[in-house]
Amino acid sequence: MKKFALLGGLLVLVIGFYAFGFNDYLDLTALKEQRSDFINYYQANPWQTSLWFFLIYVVSTAVSIPGASILTLAAGAVFGLWWGVILVSFASTVGASCAFLLSRYVLRKPVQSKFSDKLAAINAGIEKEGAFYLFTLRLIVVFPFWLINLLMGLTPIKLRTYFWVSQVGMFPATILFVNAGTQLAKIEQVSDVLSPAIAVSFALLGVFPLIAKAIPGIVRRYKVLNAYDKPDSFDYNLVVIGGGSAGLVSSYIAAAVKAKVLLVEKEKMGGDCLNTGCVPSKSLIKSTRFLAELTRSERYGIKQASAQFDFAEIMERVAAVIKQIEPHDSIERYTDLGVECMTGEARVSSPWEVRVGDKTVTAQNIIIASGAKPRVPSIEGLKSVTFYTSDTIWSLRELPKRLVVVGGGPIGCELGQCFSRLGSHVILVDMADRLITPEDEDASTLLMQHLVAEGVEIKLGRTVKRFVKKNGEQCIVINSEDAVEESVPFDAVLLAIGRQANTSGMGLEELGVQMTPAGTINVDKYMRTQVPTIYACGDVAGPYQFTHTAAHYAWYSAVNSLFGDVWRFKADHRVIPRVIFTEPEIASVGHNENTAKEAGIVTETTTFKLDELDRAIVDGKTDGFIKVLTPAGKDKILGVTIVGEHAGEILPEFVLAMKHGLGLNNVLGTIHAYPTWAEATKYTAGVWKKNHAPKKLLALLERYHLAKRKQ
Ligand SMILES: Cc1cc2nc3c(=O)[nH]c(=O)nc-3n(C[C@H](O)[C@H](O)[C@H](O)COP(=O)(O)OP(=O)(O)OC[C@H]3O[C@@H](n4cnc5c(N)ncnc54)[C@H](O)[C@@H]3O)c2cc1C
Repeated sequence: MKKFALLGGLLVLVIGFYAFGFNDYLDLTALKEQRSDFINYYQANPWQTSLWFFLIYVVSTAVSIPGASILTLAAGAVFGLWWGVILVSFASTVGASCAFLLSRYVLRKPVQSKFSDKLAAINAGIEKEGAFYLFTLRLIVVFPFWLINLLMGLTPIKLRTYFWVSQVGMFPATILFVNAGTQLAKIEQVSDVLSPAIAVSFALLGVFPLIAKAIPGIVRRYKVLNAYDKPDSFDYNLVVIGGGSAGLVSSYIAAAVKAKVLLVEKEKMGGDCLNTGCVPSKSLIKSTRFLAELTRSERYGIKQASAQFDFAEIMERVAAVIKQIEPHDSIERYTDLGVECMTGEARVSSPWEVRVGDKTVTAQNIIIASGAKPRVPSIEGLKSVTFYTSDTIWSLRELPKRLVVVGGGPIGCELGQCFSRLGSHVILVDMADRLITPEDEDASTLLMQHLVAEGVEIKLGRTVKRFVKKNGEQCIVINSEDAVEESVPFDAVLLAIGRQANTSGMGLEELGVQMTPAGTINVDKYMRTQVPTIYACGDVAGPYQFTHTAAHYAWYSAVNSLFGDVWRFKADHRVIPRVIFTEPEIASVGHNENTAKEAGIVTETTTFKLDELDRAIVDGKTDGFIKVLTPAGKDKILGVTIVGEHAGEILPEFVLAMKHGLGLNNVLGTIHAYPTWAEATKYTAGVWKKNHAPKKLLALLERYHLAKRKQ
């Protein structure tokens, strides 16, 4: 109501302005005719005239009445150059700030909530560079003054910033117009003041700060190169360091486009994913899911089912799976694909040189794809107990009776569940107050319920203080929030508290390659480091540490490093799927409710519970849900979280839809085979549709059918 009253008041003011003919004064001829009267009045009442002029200028600008140019010319004509400039400069800034505040008060909330998904990127840009954008807009005089005030009011730019940037940005045009006003007789029309040449000069002045801001970065990059001797010719177009997912894909792409590429790997081809990550963990999950299914035999009408197994044999099967996949990532295969492979530890010795052992090779560009390793914190007593990480756990052949898992993220939860199913008593410790914190609370709650039901002991909100030996037993001492220490005995510990990028010992810091606060290599939107010839991708660069993202960013690194002189592609971070392979599985893409809230995006949530899906009932796996976030009233998919059986297999339909701009109406209009898990996507879209049914139209239809029945 207050906002409507304010708008009404403004409207009355504007109508009154025109109705009483005040607009006649905002005319060049009128100004010329009455100039001497104004000057006489000013000379008789200098402070009064200045104050009235100031107020009129502020009000007309605040309510966006066109005429600022005439008022500015009038300032020159009546007050002279310097007093005119001072008056106009402050009045225009105060007026612009009032218009900005009005727009913010009346329009910002509705506009931001209606278009929150589209405005998120603009808001982020304004928060980071708002002052530069505003300065540029102020100097590009073709942008109407009032429109800038209204639009900027919709953004998150601070009033203080808006005020001073406007004051500075409008200053050159103010001087130009006030000065022109001092020679009013020479002006035939307002457009005479601003010739095309002056307008272009202002625009150049406007973009200058943006260019100036970019220049030091460009200079710094090329200064790094000048410090080294550039080889006259190169052994390779590209040297890739690291033969994991990122390195394999980068080198394959380079070879596919006929570049001469060398891939250097110091340990095993295939990197973490094949040797210590995705492949072994998913192999172990397969065996342990089978065991878990047997315990649920009654659910399928089978009174009793049991299995005899040997832990060592299951771990041997894991090793055998790795062996079976190994040829896909082998030196032989990549050599056949046209990639030259070398075994050894690589070190970058100049922007174009890589040393491997006592050999130095030269390349036009280098890609760092050296991955990450498990983080091992320096906790008192750790070295004296039996501890494993995701790198070393695969060598276990004897099942630990009591396994402490430190870390409730994806790796800790996946492996913790596996070992619990194999018969270990698993105690999962995390300092957070819930598991898998990046996901929504309902997802982590459901996972926790399953883990607890299976016998995993979960201790949240606990910090690890130290490891000790007590009465011949290994113990972990943990601390709760209320500082009560607890000592938990165990046979082995698995540390799963995050992964640390492999950046040291490769000569990167010496060259000037910068790191992020997270310890990953800092790359720009083209996957390039501060050294223009060096790119990075995969776990070492982040921000996501998955095999599929390593491959995704590898494409940008390879293509930009080989063809960047001609065209560069900005890495696309928009639609990144992620899956946690616990039971229930948790698959997500885009925003969840937490991240949308953090980004200030207003969303609507549509939920479909899997207990309504025929296939889930048939399979006896009804626990779980699909949650889709859309902008209010629209079917555009902003994010999806699926918790339940086959979540990772259901997700790709949403990923495809998001990537290609398809909405829930498109999903609903697609035939899905019955009875499949994939049908769940269609039913989720159906829930959304039902929630948006045109109620008035349906009421009319109801009446129509009633009338027909009565005929
Ligand atoms: C237990 C676990 C389970 C996982 N499960 C999944 C999953 O299900 N799905 C998923 O998408 N992701 C999963 N991941 C993550 C996935 O494994 C990684 O994101 C992926 O392997 C990253 O690939 P990369 O090429 O960046 O690094 P890496 O695979 O680590 O490869 C880097 C390679 O560089 C080599 N190297 C390092 N320094 C040098 C040097 N100086 N000279 C020469 N060579 C060097 C290393 O030896 C290594 O082989 C899992 C990870 C773990 C630990």
